[in-house]
Amino acid sequence: MSSQVSPAEDSPRHDPLRKPDVPDNVQDAIRTLIQWAGDDPTREGLVDTPKRVARAWLEYCQGYQEDPAVHLSRIFEEVGGYDEVVLLKDIPFQSHCEHHMAPIIGKAAIAYLPRNHVVGISKLARVLHGFARRLQIQERLTAEVAQCIWEHLRPQGVAVVIEANHACMTARGVRTPGVGMITSRMMGTFLEDERSRKEVLSLMGY
Ligand SMILES: [Zn+2]
Repeated sequence: MSSQVSPAEDSPRHDPLRKPDVPDNVQDAIRTLIQWAGDDPTREGLVDTPKRVARAWLEYCQGYQEDPAVHLSRIFEEVGGYDEVVLLKDIPFQSHCEHHMAPIIGKAAIAYLPRNHVVGISKLARVLHGFARRLQIQERLTAEVAQCIWEHLRPQGVAVVIEANHACMTARGVRTPGVGMITSRMMGTFLEDERSRKEVLSLMGY
């Protein structure tokens, strides 16, 4: 095990550009998988693959290192009397399904009806990525994004619609390219009032 490798003396302890060390047991696990899949992990093209795969997975799963709610901690109370829907749509995202660890690639639309305060619009996308960069199922991702905004922004309503392709369906199993899955979560006004729900869905393009 070489998991505890101290940084070189001349390098700053927390250099963000420094590639994270990959412990031997993690590399071994990936070598085992390569072998299991039918290839030779010692051949030239695959020698450094375990390290690359391990570091890539740290990035895919960066969401575990953060609490997405922090992005909603800075709110603006001066909204000039604005009390209509705030919508961010066509937000591209990437996640991985927890059943096959295969990519989920899609786009999201996130809307809320403010109650006295708003957040910077890019924060909605950050909340999405915070939950997407984990092992997920699309249904839970949709619900977690909506719940986080509902709890921390306390708006009158939240609507989240996610449309995505799952590589575990398109590249394996039934191998059905082109099929997309749509999930939605409505809360508050968008759940209770049909007219508001129809309005937000039409703004989202559904
Ligand atoms: Zn899957």
